[in-house]
Amino acid sequence: MASSTETRKPFPQPAAGYTQSFWRTELDPLDNHRSTPDLPIEADILIIGSGYAGASTAYHLFPENQQGTPPKVVLLEARELCSGATGRNGGHLRPDLYSATKIYTERYGLDAAVEVVRFEIAHMKTLEKLVQKEKIDCDLTFTRSLDIYLDVDQLAAAKSFYDYLVDQGLDFMDDVQYLSQEDAQGKAKVRNAQGGFSFSAGHLWPYKLICRLIRIAVSRGLNLQTNTMVTEIGQDRTPEGLWPVTTNRGVIHARKIILATNAFTGALAPEYSKAIVPCKGLCTHIEPAPGAPYQELPETYAIRQGLGAFIYQISRKDGSIIVGGAQYTYKDIPDQWHNNPDDGTLINSVEHYFDGYMQRTFFGWEDSNATVKHIWTGVMGYSADSLPHIGDIPGKPGQFIAAGFNGHGMPVVFLCGKAIAQMAQHSVPFQKTGLPRLFETSAARLDPVYNDTVG
Ligand SMILES: Cc1cc2nc3c(=O)[nH]c(=O)nc-3n(C[C@H](O)[C@H](O)[C@H](O)COP(=O)(O)OP(=O)(O)OC[C@H]3O[C@@H](n4cnc5c(N)ncnc54)[C@H](O)[C@@H]3O)c2cc1C
Repeated sequence: MASSTETRKPFPQPAAGYTQSFWRTELDPLDNHRSTPDLPIEADILIIGSGYAGASTAYHLFPENQQGTPPKVVLLEARELCSGATGRNGGHLRPDLYSATKIYTERYGLDAAVEVVRFEIAHMKTLEKLVQKEKIDCDLTFTRSLDIYLDVDQLAAAKSFYDYLVDQGLDFMDDVQYLSQEDAQGKAKVRNAQGGFSFSAGHLWPYKLICRLIRIAVSRGLNLQTNTMVTEIGQDRTPEGLWPVTTNRGVIHARKIILATNAFTGALAPEYSKAIVPCKGLCTHIEPAPGAPYQELPETYAIRQGLGAFIYQISRKDGSIIVGGAQYTYKDIPDQWHNNPDDGTLINSVEHYFDGYMQRTFFGWEDSNATVKHIWTGVMGYSADSLPHIGDIPGKPGQFIAAGFNGHGMPVVFLCGKAIAQMAQHSVPFQKTGLPRLFETSAARLDPVYNDTVG
């Protein structure tokens, strides 16, 4: 029986010594940057976390041709720049046009679900324009994504919801094409495929995008402090309205705080510990042997082996493949992934899954001698209701959150960062930011009715 003096296990924080991701093989000069040798003692706006959410927020807080004195913004990162989920993901920019939409439609109705789809689609054009405008060299590539089903019943259920969406006359469904078994095995080249869908998607080098956004913000006045762990946010503001924030390098006081801490949010805001859970995933970089024959795969893939059995994959211009997922191989061993913040080790039961994966999955890869060149893990912030938490933290005036992006941040986070910057800097209310209504964080969502994190 628990004694009254027993302390609860502390919520985990980012730890040193992570596995090496392919994306972090070319490090940016800012990777260990500190804009000032000492931690500033005060900030107008303090961002915690330098992944996609923190970087997008910082970028939007420092617009081009800013009038007047820029705000004093400090960004604290526990480890190196972009060393969390964003620097360790699959690089897949794939708006979800019909799959998660089913759950949202069942739970909240079609209109609310469609807002999420449109928001994700908007990221495609937004990122294209951003990369052009800021001349960001991050291998951004647009193509189509092939969503391939190996299980006949799962395909039939997906097709039935697809037909329902088409019947609603939704314009974005024009982009979603049904693939017959012949197409899925022939054009998509996937062995044992039963059929699937295809729609517009993209891929990129996430670390390079994030570093460039941060570099722009630093050049306009952002104070970046890497290797600075926030250990606590004080419960009360000072009489001047500042929140005391304790770090491993001293205390900084901030008028506004933005938690871009994803999986680790519960450590600084314990009220989120049931709503956002750290869940570990694994990803690999695979190369065909030099000179060996293989069929090019210009599209991206999601290959579904059955319910909850999902593999995501992109092809890089150099012929190599980034592929990850396969959670179904270890889902029944929760210790290995659920509530597991450790990206310093691999996941035992899936460690060798991707050996020979291309050869056994794709027609035309049998003699490729493709081998795994990099394998790594990363920690996602799974949310209990599968939706991110964005907006004002309940009961903590001046504190904001942009976290809980699950394994699906690339077509979601950038515009959330823009919105949270508007909320923190210009007091724009959530409803005026253009974010899907379902993303708004709330006290009700902190006591979740769903438990999607267990898959
Ligand atoms: C293996 C894997 C594969 C994935 N594949 C894809 C994919 O292909 N497509 C897709 O759309 N999404 C994918 N995702 C999900 C996607 O990467 C995330 O949704 C997204 O990157 C989240 O961005 P973020 O900024 O919220 O979190 P993060 O990138 O994790 O950033 C949070 C940062 O906060 C810092 N931090 C946390 N606590 C503190 C503290 N106390 N003090 C200071 N700093 C702190 C962390 O160190 C970290 O750098 C994948 C994720 C993983 C792990």
